[in-house]
Order: sequence, then C-alpha cells, then structure tokens
Amino acid sequence: LRGELASLRDLPATTTDGERVQLLANTGLLADISPGLANGAEGIGLYRTEMPFMISETFPSEEEQLHTYSQVLAAYRGRPVYMRTLDIGGDKPLPYFPIHEENPALGWRGIRFCLDNSSLLMTQLRAMLRAAGSGEELHILLPMVSNTGEIDAFQGLLGDALEQLAGEHVTVRRPRIGIMVEVPAAISLLPAWAGKLDFISIGSNDLSQYLLALDRNNPRVAGAYDHIHPAVLHEIARIAATAKRMQLPLSLCGEMASDPAAVVFLLGTGVRTLSMSASKLPRIKWLLRSISAAEAEQLAQQALELDNVAAIRQLLEGALQQRG
Ligand code: PEP
Ligand code: MG
Repeated sequence: LRGELASLRDLPATTTDGERVQLLANTGLLADISPGLANGAEGIGLYRTEMPFMISETFPSEEEQLHTYSQVLAAYRGRPVYMRTLDIGGDKPLPYFPIHEENPALGWRGIRFCLDNSSLLMTQLRAMLRAAGSGEELHILLPMVSNTGEIDAFQGLLGDALEQLAGEHVTVRRPRIGIMVEVPAAISLLPAWAGKLDFISIGSNDLSQYLLALDRNNPRVAGAYDHIHPAVLHEIARIAATAKRMQLPLSLCGEMASDPAAVVFLLGTGVRTLSMSASKLPRIKWLLRSISAAEAEQLAQQALELDNVAAIRQLLEGALQQRG
C-alpha cells in the first residue's frame, strides 16, 4: 500500500464519477513545506502564522515575517496559499505576551486580539503583502470572526496597508480575503457577508468546540468531543448550501478533513476543497478516488437523519469498509 500511496502523488483527487476535489496542506512551520509538496499538496489551505510567533522570543519584526512568508510563497509559487492572520489566545498562548483570562476560549483571541492591537496586525499585513508582491497566491484568512464590524475594520486596515506600500513604491496586489467559519455566529451571517468575502474556510475544530460547548483540549470531556456530532454535520450542510447559493468558494481546514468517515460526508454535502496535515493527504486522495460523489451525497443525506455519533460513524465507515 505504501508504494501505491506514493504513486498517487501526481494524480488528481477525482471521484469515480468525475468530481474534482482540491487537496491542500495545513502548516505553520517551514519544516512542513517539503512534506506537503512530497505528498502532492496543491497548495497551502491553512498557514497558521501563530506558529512562527510562538517559537520566536518576541513579536517577529516585519522583516523577519517577510523572510518567513516569502519562503512559504516561493515554495508554492503558482498554487494558492491561505495565510491566516495571527490566531493567538485561547489554546495558543504566546510566551512573551501572557493573557490571563477566566475563560480564554471565549476571550481575547484571533481577530479580536488583532484588531485591538492593530499595529501588530498592520506589521503582519505589510509582511504578507510584500512577500506576495504581484503574485496571485496569497489568500488572507481571518480567524474567529463573529461580527460584521470585524470584517469591515480588517478591510479598512488592508486598504491602509496597500496605500502605505504603494506610497513606498512597493509592488503589491490586493489579496483574496476570507474568514474561518468557526464561531457559530458566523453561519447565519454568511449571506450578508458574501459580498465582502472572496472565500470561506470551515474551521471544524473550533466550530465543534463552540457548537458542543466542549473544550477541545480538556481530557475530561475529550471523549464526547467529535466533529461527527449530528449538530456539527447539520451546520456544515447549512454552510455548504449557503456557500453554493452565494457562489462563495468553500474549503474545510480542521481535523475533520483527514477523517475518512467525515470526508465521505463532506464530499456528499458539496465541499470540494480540503486542507489537512501533509501526511494525511495520500490516504484521503486514495479514498476520494475510490468513491462517487453521488454515493457520498446519498450517504450524507442518510447521516443527517441520524441522531448520534456512533450510528453516523457506523453508516459512513461501513460504506468505506466495503471498498477495502
Ligand atoms: C479550526 O479551528 O478548525 C482550525 C483549523 O484552526 P485551529 O485548529 O488552528 O484553531
Ligand atoms: Mg480555530
């Protein structure tokens, strides 16, 4: 099987009935670049910029960030790279900027933190824009968005950054802008935001955490945390239907993208871009090449009728087992 998986690298992830799925890699470390390419990633679907911030001793300067981001974009030239703005707070602390809160998962994190510290965000934006230059690869992804004002404030800052750089005679291009759909409040607002966004990406890790009110890192309740929970599946189906109706490109970049049973469901609800750790790509490609989108759609409909994780897993995994 190992040799078979390796030879898959250059084949497209196309289902048996001809639906093409784009497979991207999640990363945050430069060390992940080569494994992504070696495993056939068609781009980077989630670059977690907090990782270079977490391994640094202080906030990295614009030049340091430029250096890092340039390497990522250069390695994936001609392919999409989704760079997420700094997503610290919650489960992602910065050693040199401790935040003490009673309820960090509901606190100062993601876009909220960045908009309150706009000079940090400005530095990061300038570094991203300079790294991308006139290339078309850069997509900027905003974490933890839950209200319209956050998108508008970000667009304002982006406009300022573009203007500043133009004033400095730096060649830059307006990047594509999207949000992580990971706070449940975002779901109902997607139709209103479609005109402001170029794409959306489902963050199924946090979306499950917030829908189920289950701390994703608390071992006491970890047994109950599952992205296959029927409530999560219903919300994902709703997001996919809205994205289709609003013609908003959709991807999913949480752990769910590499869970075979979940992938059957996602294919069946119309998700056509998945981003996951590089090592998971070959297996998921193999799965997609062995199933039809029509069959996945039927299975997804059946899954949405069920009321518990065990029954849903049995349905989806049963269908996978039949093909070995
Ligand atoms: C997510 O929340 O699903 C996600 C992809 O982001 P992170 O795991 O970095 O919070
Ligand atoms: Mg998240």
